[in-house]
Amino acid sequence: MEIDSKLPDVGVTIFAVMTALSNENNAINLSQGFPDFDVSPELVALVDRHMRAGHNQYAPMQGILPLREAIADKVKQLYRATYDPITEMTVTSGATEALFCAITSVVKPGDEVVMFEPAYDAYVPVVRLSGGIPVFVPLHHPSYHIDWREVRRAITARTRLIILNSPHNPTGAVLSAEDISELIGLVSKTGVLIVSDEVYEHIIFDDIQHESMACYPELAERSFVISSFGKTYHTTGWKVGYCLAPPSLTREFQKIHQFVNFATSTPVQHAYAEFMRNPGTYSPLAGFYQAKRDFFLSLIESSRFRPIDCRGTYFQLLDYSNITDEPDIAFAKRMTLEHGVAAIPTSVFCHNGSDQKVLRFCFAKKDETLRAAAEILSRI
Ligand code: PMP
Ligand code: GLN
Repeated sequence: MEIDSKLPDVGVTIFAVMTALSNENNAINLSQGFPDFDVSPELVALVDRHMRAGHNQYAPMQGILPLREAIADKVKQLYRATYDPITEMTVTSGATEALFCAITSVVKPGDEVVMFEPAYDAYVPVVRLSGGIPVFVPLHHPSYHIDWREVRRAITARTRLIILNSPHNPTGAVLSAEDISELIGLVSKTGVLIVSDEVYEHIIFDDIQHESMACYPELAERSFVISSFGKTYHTTGWKVGYCLAPPSLTREFQKIHQFVNFATSTPVQHAYAEFMRNPGTYSPLAGFYQAKRDFFLSLIESSRFRPIDCRGTYFQLLDYSNITDEPDIAFAKRMTLEHGVAAIPTSVFCHNGSDQKVLRFCFAKKDETLRAAAEILSRI
């Protein structure tokens, strides 16, 4: 039966498309972002222990209290921010669910939502489902910085929300202290809200500090701050994340969350609650991934791909304009089929398909995976 689609322009996400193509062709998959190395055995043992201890039924809708308390303590220590685990926090089934609940809880038909392109693909469809109107501000290639004059021009009386993402997927750009000052100047004394996607908060390089919205009271009072354990603990398949927000926003958020998922995996929440108490489980992450980035870059130094600065996330952008002028989607597919390395074309993250001849490569991989991929890339 033909039905009238609510999202007529939306197909299957590029991550599913490229991973399927990679698997069908036995390629090295540097497309979808996930590590190919193991989870800490200690964390796996904790999940096992909590399953055997009988923690297998529904968790409270907001998340188990010990996990919310552990998150509150961590955020206080890292960002000097106080969030009440009872009224200002929700554990979700991944950051994806948190993004959905945050956006749908505040965007009404006709509201404008400012976002930066390239934009992670989970934002626009949710804005549209809510009847909102995406307003796109470009990040300027190749540094992918924000031109705040353009943001000021994009803000109108109908602006309800700004969506930010730092460290930024797919570009690896990060917000600076100057960006934060501009943002504060822009939103203070307005009713504009913020959704801040901070899933790569611990994956930031070269001694740069992560600028969380939680650090700044003028921003925190209007922000949904979203993170994900999947990125931090190499557990993207466990799908647990969380959202911090002031009580009035959290109340609206939970009205949606309770009917999307109600609650998320109980034994996994118990395991994270214990595991994350040790800062040693997340503080080495930046150094670990910086070494991966540098290793990958050293391996492709003599290739015809040209790297673009990556300051955070586990994605490296490579400019291939020295190799071909094919569109990025066509080149990404051909590279998978003919050369056996899969990457993500970045034009899919722009509403107008703007193509900078840049592909995104995930370096959250074992050294041998990176070595094998780089050997191929160096021959293209
Ligand atoms: N936001 C960004 C920028 C991401 O890269 C991801 C990773 N997939 C997500 C949100 C979703 O995170 P999760 O897997 O926890 O749903
Ligand atoms: N965030 C991951 C990426 O950017 C993929 C998540 C997904 O497959 N939906 O590659």
